Amino acid sequence: MTIFEKIAARQIPAQFVHETDEFFVIRDVNPQAPVHVLIVPKRVIPRIGEASAEDAVLLARMLLAAPEIAKKVGVDETGYRLVLNNGRDAGESVPHLHIHLLGGRSLQWPPG
Ligand code: AMP
Repeated sequence: MTIFEKIAARQIPAQFVHETDEFFVIRDVNPQAPVHVLIVPKRVIPRIGEASAEDAVLLARMLLAAPEIAKKVGVDETGYRLVLNNGRDAGESVPHLHIHLLGGRSLQWPPG
């Protein structure tokens, strides 16, 4: 089981912000911004590079939930960034796809 599957199964504690039948949103344990949450599908897709057409609706629902989640965590008006890390050079550390939602400060571009 991935760490996120264990969180979904309540085997590991996490701060839940939102949950549906298909995905959940938790606070990142090592936040990189004042607001840093993870949008995680319950079905394991290792990374976006391994997603398939069958995942299209799920991924779209996760992405389209971002505005509502941003509102819930208080960054809908100030702005936020959505990030998917795919592979070594991107710093992927958990092989279970998730979308980072970061905000609460001015974020640099290009990213480090
Ligand atoms: P990535 O590097 O894109 O694979 O992102 C993995 C993210 O999961 C990192 O930002 C970690 O801080 C976060 N993370 C790892 N373990 C936990 C956990 N138990 N609860 C919440 N976030 C976690």
